[in-house]
Amino acid sequence: MSTPPTILSWHAHVYFDPASSRDRAERVRSGIAARFKVQLGRWHEVLVGPHTAPMYQVAFEPAVFAELVPWLALNREALSVLVHPNTLAPRADHLEHALWLGTPLPVLSDVLPERIERARESPIVPNT
Ligand code: ZN
Repeated sequence: MSTPPTILSWHAHVYFDPASSRDRAERVRSGIAARFKVQLGRWHEVLVGPHTAPMYQVAFEPAVFAELVPWLALNREALSVLVHPNTLAPRADHLEHALWLGTPLPVLSDVLPERIERARESPIVPNT
């Protein structure tokens, strides 16, 4: 068996509908900010990357997973949340390695490279 890939970090993408669920997304966001050392990304109301609905990203270190993901399971306010690891295989990370809380949404696989050489993002700097 080959060595399993190392998980460098995790993302949680919290999806919302600007017309009907932005207030709930705000509550989830401030709940995260109050409790966890994470890097909260900005609001994306225009679709970006492989995502098929507006969302914001929460980036966190592997050590935060065991606290944050159970909290999200209970407090996601009925929003869809994609939780995916970041190895160096973005396509598999979003499609095969991913966890969904709530209703899964489509993910555009075409824009996701199969392999990258190194993490594209700088190290996580908690802003909460
Ligand atoms: Zn992501």
